[in-house]
Parts: sequence; structure tokens; C-alpha cells
Amino acid sequence: MDTVDITIIGAGIIGLAVAAELSKKHKDLILLEKNDHFGQETSSRNSEVIHAGIYYPKGSLKQKLCIEGAPLLYKICKKAAIPHKRCGKIIIATNPSELSHLEELYKKANMNGVKTKLLDQKEIQKLEPNTNAIAGLYSPMTGIVDSHSLMKYLYSKAQSSGCEVVYRSEVVLLRKKNNGFIVGLKQDEYQFFTRVVVNCAGLFADQIAALIGLDIDRLGYRLRFCKGDYFSYQKPSPVNMLVYPVPSQDGVSLGVHATLDMGRRLRFGPDAEYVDEINYQVNASKAGLFYQAANKIIPNIDKKAIVPDMSGIRPKLGGPGVPFRDFIIKEETNTELSGFINLIGIESPGLTCCVSIAQKVSAMVSEILS
Ligand SMILES: Cc1cc2nc3c(=O)[nH]c(=O)nc-3n(C[C@H](O)[C@H](O)[C@H](O)COP(=O)(O)OP(=O)(O)OC[C@H]3O[C@@H](n4cnc5c(N)ncnc54)[C@H](O)[C@@H]3O)c2cc1C
Repeated sequence: MDTVDITIIGAGIIGLAVAAELSKKHKDLILLEKNDHFGQETSSRNSEVIHAGIYYPKGSLKQKLCIEGAPLLYKICKKAAIPHKRCGKIIIATNPSELSHLEELYKKANMNGVKTKLLDQKEIQKLEPNTNAIAGLYSPMTGIVDSHSLMKYLYSKAQSSGCEVVYRSEVVLLRKKNNGFIVGLKQDEYQFFTRVVVNCAGLFADQIAALIGLDIDRLGYRLRFCKGDYFSYQKPSPVNMLVYPVPSQDGVSLGVHATLDMGRRLRFGPDAEYVDEINYQVNASKAGLFYQAANKIIPNIDKKAIVPDMSGIRPKLGGPGVPFRDFIIKEETNTELSGFINLIGIESPGLTCCVSIAQKVSAMVSEILS
């Protein structure tokens, strides 16, 4: 039976970043992807925002890895000429009832060590005259990145350092054996032995954990799909930076916001809707709701220019009404699966954190193989 030291499951941004990082130190590793190309799921279906780390509870992995990850990502983008822009963002209050929440966010940002500035209406008018703000929180460190170029860069780093990337390879079997695991693929029923497994399977990371025999309900690993549709604006953007509403208190999403891509294309989204299956089709009948949400932050937006664009699906730990859940990044030593590393619930700010997550995983793998 063939053997390999490290097997990474899933070639989204996280699997690619993990592969690029691990291949700096380890030479016997493989990255398996069920699709015929990298980044065809959540990693190419998001807002492409490099978050500064305002929203997350202090001490959480999301907060820590975002604050570490954003500067690391900017550094890589600059060094490798990956298209990106530190365009900044404002979270705007559009009515007096939102002011106290805006101040709470300001305090939270301070506690998290994230640079922000509270702006009054006049100051916002100077920065973004086309918004409907009565006050705002400005984050100069927030930016955007071309996620496809980033994935291409990570892929080539991993591959050129010796990581084998194999497409059309769906993992359908995992079994503990001696000090490692048997991995079985759907294609040709091929099986091999590996010492370490890193589960980066995104929306199916809970199912991979279940395959190795973990009780995903008892452990709180079960994922729910939370879809976010986007509508694009078919006219020149009336704003220069990212404009967000004050987020809803339920913590499900940051609210329908205005995002720009590297081509200055304006999009509104994502909304949040729990679904049972993966279907990326955008529900065109939501156009009216998107217009309302867009018009709340940028009045005088042209209703006819708002058209269905794309969607992404969040791998949510916990369903509607469940309060904050952190990323799960864990070696399963206490379930006697030493060498099995689960990354589950890597929703936003996963893109921002891809490099810091990869460094964390690399430290875990070094310990296992030492
Ligand atoms: C609507 C939306 C907006 C977002 N906006 C932002 C943002 O602005 N900024 C930010 O930082 N983050 C954002 N995120 C989060 C970010 O996109 C994710 O955290 C990140 O893309 C997760 O990457 P991943 O590699 O874990 O998952 P994925 O990209 O889903 O990759 C997982 C891969 O595993 C593969 N796979 C699954 N099962 C198997 C199997 N059995 N065998 C082999 N391969 C398998 C899949 O095919 C897939 O390619 C957003 C997410 C969504 C949904």
C-alpha cells in the first residue's frame, strides 16, 4: 500500500494555504480535491474582504487569527504582486437607534487592538458623500483581495515545493490504522496510508470528521449551510470604500453591505438564509429586498441597475439563533485520533485568516511528526 506523511483534504483557500505552509518544511504531502480545480466552492464565492478584526469576541480564534492574519496577507499580496487594495471600510448608522451599537463596536475594536475612528455626519459626508449615514465607524485597515489570484499563488507555492495536488479525488473512507490512517478515494476505490490528515473540506468538513468515526453531534461539529446571495450594481459605483450597515445583533452575518472588487465593480450582499442543500443559484425574486437594503445605506441607488450576481454558502456551526461559534481547529488527540486535525466551521473571516490558520496547523503538524 502506498504511504504519504501528510494528507490535506480540500483545495479551497484553507487547504491551499495549509499545503503552501506545510510544504516549506515537509516534502511528503498530498492535497486531495473532489472537484476538477481548486477553489470552486466557498473560496471563490465571498466578499473578498480582508477584515481588520473588529467584530469577534476577544480571545476567540476568529479574533486572534484575523488580527494576525490580515497583516500577513497584506504582506504576501504585496510581495507576490497579488491584486489587493487597502480601501478601508465604514460601518454606518442610518438612524439614532443604531448609535449605541456603533459605539459598542468602537469599544470592541479598541479592545481587540483594531484601529478605528468614530466619524460624525460631516466627516462621513467628506469621505463618502453618497451614503445615508448619521454617524460611522471607519476602519482604515480593511481591504479587498483578488481571491482567485491568491489561490493561484498558494497553489503554485505548494506545488513547486513538492506538494502533489490531485483533483477528482473525493475522500469517501477514513480508518484509523496503527499510528496513522487509511484514506480511501471514490475514484478507482484507491486506498493509501497516511500519518497525518488535515481536514480542510469546507462545507463537508463535518462529514469528513464523521467518516473517521467522530460523533459530530456530541462534539458540536455538525455544520449547517447558510446561503448568502449577492446582487451586482450595473452602474459606476457611487462609493469608494466598503460600506456596511450596523450588523444585526443575532450575529448570523454582517448584514447586506456594499463591496467593491478589484475592478471597482459594486456588489450588494450577502444576505443570510439557512438551506438544506448546496445550490448556488441566486433567487432573483429577492431584488426588491436587496434594493431596500442597498437604499438604506446608499440612497438614490438605481433600482433597475441591481441584478442577481452570485452566491456563497457559509459552513455554520449551529443553526438559526445559535450565538457566536468559533472556528474549530483541533488535533483529535483526546478522541484517540492523534494525527487527525479538523478545521470545521471556517466561515468568515476565513479568507483573511488563511495564512495564520496555515501557520497554526503547521505548528500542530510539526509536533505530531517530531
Ligand atoms: C457569502 C460569504 C462571504 C464571505 N466573505 C468573506 C470575506 O469577505 N472575507 C473573509 O475573510 N472571509 C469571507 N468568507 C469566508 C471565506 O470565504 C471562507 O472562510 C473560506 O473560503 C473557507 O475556505 P475553505 O478552504 O475552508 O472552504 P472551501 O473553499 O469550501 O474549500 C473546501 C474544499 O474541500 C473540497 N472537499 C469537500 N469534501 C471533500 C472530499 N470528501 N474529498 C475531497 N475534497 C473535498 C471542496 O470541493 C472544496 O474545494 C465568506 C464566506 C461566504 C460564504
